[in-house]
Amino acid sequence: MTAFAETQVSNAADLAEKSLQGEELSREEALSVLNWADDDVLTLLQAAFRVRQTYFGKTVKLNFLLNIQSGICAEDCGYCSQSRDSDAPVDKYRMMGAEDVMEAAEKAIANKATRLCMVASMRGPSDKDVGAVAESIRQVKAKYPQLELCACLGLLKDGQAETLEAAGVDAYNHNLNTSERHYGEICSTHGFADRLDTVRKVTGAGISACSGALFGMGEAEDDILEVAYRLREMQVESIPVNFLIPMKGTSMVAREDLTPMRCLKILCLFRFLNPRATLRIAGGRELHLRSLQPLGLYAANSLFVGDYLTTEGQAPNLDIEMIRDMGFEVVGDAPAMENTTSPLSERVQFTSRKSS
Ligand code: SF4
Repeated sequence: MTAFAETQVSNAADLAEKSLQGEELSREEALSVLNWADDDVLTLLQAAFRVRQTYFGKTVKLNFLLNIQSGICAEDCGYCSQSRDSDAPVDKYRMMGAEDVMEAAEKAIANKATRLCMVASMRGPSDKDVGAVAESIRQVKAKYPQLELCACLGLLKDGQAETLEAAGVDAYNHNLNTSERHYGEICSTHGFADRLDTVRKVTGAGISACSGALFGMGEAEDDILEVAYRLREMQVESIPVNFLIPMKGTSMVAREDLTPMRCLKILCLFRFLNPRATLRIAGGRELHLRSLQPLGLYAANSLFVGDYLTTEGQAPNLDIEMIRDMGFEVVGDAPAMENTTSPLSERVQFTSRKSS
């Protein structure tokens, strides 16, 4: 082993140890994760896995997304295909009723997801919107109490988080997305402080906060560190890490500055800084991690199965097979329930829905 490789191994072990002791990585250490040598990324992943395994073993939690209101938003987030400035060809419909949400809940369960994330395109909900979502939550919870429900309705006004909490919502998602400094570059119709305010309202109402980030929007390394430290400071329980899917019709159509290695290092950084948080590899997984997707699970412990809000994801059977091939297990999947792999004759016929 070269002196350089020995240093990297001991540094990686130190990072894992610090993380497990609840200590914050210094800025220098955090930066070293982002600049880790590609040739030695397995050492970094092994260290991140030590932290992940301590709190989550080899389990992978699956989430299922439902766009409950699509393509109708007055905000101008440059990365979003549903913004007022986007020409992307997305479905447009108003708030779904409880019947449609129930159908999606059944689909989520059939795909082995333990959380249904209900996302609405909007700046923030009216009280009527919150009432409609609360009714869906009540009905789904009455039938499937084991299914976790997460709402994502944008900026909340006083009292709205409490209404959702009373209906039985488990979590509320509102991503910080990027650093405070960089926020003005991605959106002008609301600010970083507005986002912080909603996350605080959520935790104040006793709801589990889900808040994460989106990379590939021209952010600098300092922005990546800043948002990772912010989420640590806020002690959010769930962190989705998204990688930009550049959609035709949005202002960020040409941004593609991520590599699979870069994505892995970002995931490791988030794991070291947020050892106990459920780290979810979210949108852009297939596009940016590509063939390295399984390695991401050494740092993260959660995935979204099925489609994203306005783009298709990998077929769920491929995700489940990937998890099982790694020797990991899907949360809530009884081990003796079924054969862990499908017959070879079936597997060779698997295709991503993108190519079908
Ligand atoms: S507020 Fe949400 S739905 Fe609206 S443009 Fe921004 S990200 Fe898209």
